[in-house]
Amino acid sequence: MGSHARSRNRLLQSLTEAEAHRLWPLLELVPLVARRVIQYPMLPIRHVFFIERGLVSTLAKVGPGRPVEAGLAGREGMVGLPVLLGASVSLHTSIIQLAGTAYRIEAAAFCNAISQMGNFRSLLLRYAHSAWVESSQSAACNLRHTLNQRLARWLLAAREKCGDDRLPFSNESLSHILGVRRASVSQCISFFEHRGALRKTGRAIEICDPERLSAFSCGCQRLLGAVQRPLLLRAGGLFQSACAQSCDGIENRGWDEIDAPPGPESVSPWGARAG
Ligand SMILES: [Zn+2]
Repeated sequence: MGSHARSRNRLLQSLTEAEAHRLWPLLELVPLVARRVIQYPMLPIRHVFFIERGLVSTLAKVGPGRPVEAGLAGREGMVGLPVLLGASVSLHTSIIQLAGTAYRIEAAAFCNAISQMGNFRSLLLRYAHSAWVESSQSAACNLRHTLNQRLARWLLAAREKCGDDRLPFSNESLSHILGVRRASVSQCISFFEHRGALRKTGRAIEICDPERLSAFSCGCQRLLGAVQRPLLLRAGGLFQSACAQSCDGIENRGWDEIDAPPGPESVSPWGARAG
């Protein structure tokens, strides 16, 4: 078994033997230290990170207050998507929310390597699409859904991305991540705790019943799961069938907020006749 197959990172697990032979010598295993910034806004991106353990937040600055989370990556993904998409800087800050480890590669070496790795590059582009969907859906979710729903969705996403039921986050750090008051987070956590979905232990949260917690989340969580689940499987033929199965399942799982596709006579969301 190659080293890539023993990696916890879902993207690296998908390397073919030939691709692993090319990429692996360029990767360096590094520690992820909590609260350390690994990418500053508007500065050249030096490295791309494939996360083995831990969580990395992408933070967006909006005005003079604290920045708000715009993306979250764990073992399913990578940090440094702008490099994949041809940019050399990012508008956002990447900060380590949960300590762990990652394989890192210099940005120029990454670009050079993936230009000759069709299978892996294709998978990374699908991951980029998934991350974009997650970010845009989160923005909509923040506007329309309750804090209970948003917090349940975030906790379930974090659990999936770090592969652990125990999430070492205080109510205060969750309030910064979600851009809300700590008292509001405390109320939500108590609500979930009294209903047996999670348990608060010191400065950590243990999700003891993910299904129950999922019942308090919004449709965004199920929609994103349908988009992201195929990426948790290996690349190749499995992807298409897994994607089809996941999307087929949206209706069955009761995600009732998807509007029917508009017909030729339908009214656009802005009120004017379509077409
Ligand atoms: Zn939502």
